[in-house]
Order: sequence, then C-alpha cells, then structure tokens
Amino acid sequence: MVGWSAQPQEWVDGFLFVGNHLALDFLNTKPILESTPTELLTNAAALEQWLVSSGTVTSQKQKVLMRAWRGSRRGEAFVRKLVAFRERLRAAVLRLEAGSLPADAFLAEIDKLLKEHPQRTSLRREDSNVVRSVYFEPREPEDVWAPIVAAVAELLSEVEPSRIRKCESGSCVLHFYDTSKKGSRRWCSMNICGNRLKVAAYQRRRRLL
Ligand SMILES: [Zn+2]
Repeated sequence: MVGWSAQPQEWVDGFLFVGNHLALDFLNTKPILESTPTELLTNAAALEQWLVSSGTVTSQKQKVLMRAWRGSRRGEAFVRKLVAFRERLRAAVLRLEAGSLPADAFLAEIDKLLKEHPQRTSLRREDSNVVRSVYFEPREPEDVWAPIVAAVAELLSEVEPSRIRKCESGSCVLHFYDTSKKGSRRWCSMNICGNRLKVAAYQRRRRLL
C-alpha cells in the first residue's frame, strides 16, 4: 500500500485530505478558500507539517531529521520546486480526467526523479509475520521527492483514470480518487461541496415551482 493517506478526516492541521490518494492530497494543497486560491505549502515548516499530517512522516527519527533543515535556504528553495512540480502534476491530472495521457515530458521527469530518489524498503518480523515496508529518511529536503514521486507514479500507472476526477462544484479545484463501489462519487466531500450543491439545487427547484 504505497501512497495512501491513512487519515480518514477531511481536515488535518489545516490541510485537506479528501483525495483518497497521497498524490491527490498533495495536489490539493492549493484549494480555493473563501473564493481565493490559497497556497498551503507556503514554506518548509508548512511542508514539514503536511508530511506529518498526511502520514508520510510518522517516526520521531524522521521528525528530528526534518528539524535539521527547518528554515534553511535549501529547504525553502525545495518547497518552491515542489510547488512548481505540483502544478505540472495538476496539468497531468487534468489531462487524465480529459481522457488523455500525461505529457511525455512529465512522464520523463517522474522517471528521472524515481531513479534519483528511490524509496527505501525495510524488512522486519512482527509477531509471526514478516513485514516489508517502505520508509524514507528526510536527511535533506530533496529526500522528500521519494514518497511524492512514488505516489505520483502509482497514481499515473495503477489507478484507473476514470476514477480520478475533479469535484463537480465549479468553484472547487479539488481532485479525488473515487473508490466507491459504483464509481459515482461527485464531490470532494459531502461537507465541503456536496451539501452546498444539494442546497443550491433544492433552492433552484423551489424557485421553479
Ligand atoms: Zn469540492
């Protein structure tokens, strides 16, 4: 299970987790809040928080490692790079949703990043089971590429594209992986957009009566 967000809540520490997939939760870090596109990955500290909130960083050791690059120029430069990458991911996801493949240049970029920042794997015994798990060590900001590109690669190669969709609300820019049985999920979240649209439809119907 690579790249899945473990958090069932929609909002965690000021970040949205409605994507059902780490790559889409990452894409959803620039939502529209109060009619304004709002950047949530504003700096290295925000990225650090997102990595914890998304369940990407879980151990104390990882947190200590990240603290070492907190506020560094390299950390801040990396966040800007990552945000620019997120916008190229947005273009790729929009293409998928429109029935096309991502641009070759973007696939080549992912391929290069996967080779430069492979995921680390560990093996241990847990009671009577042998457990293999992936982990990463954020010794330097660039190490964050590993979990991000692994999740993006998985999204692009293993998820049925018709199950990747944008929220139907015209004023919402959130994307999600529809894992519902019927594949009929329409909104990023019932609380955020679903109810609002239902109320609007109800009011429209009432006006027509
Ligand atoms: Zn929405």
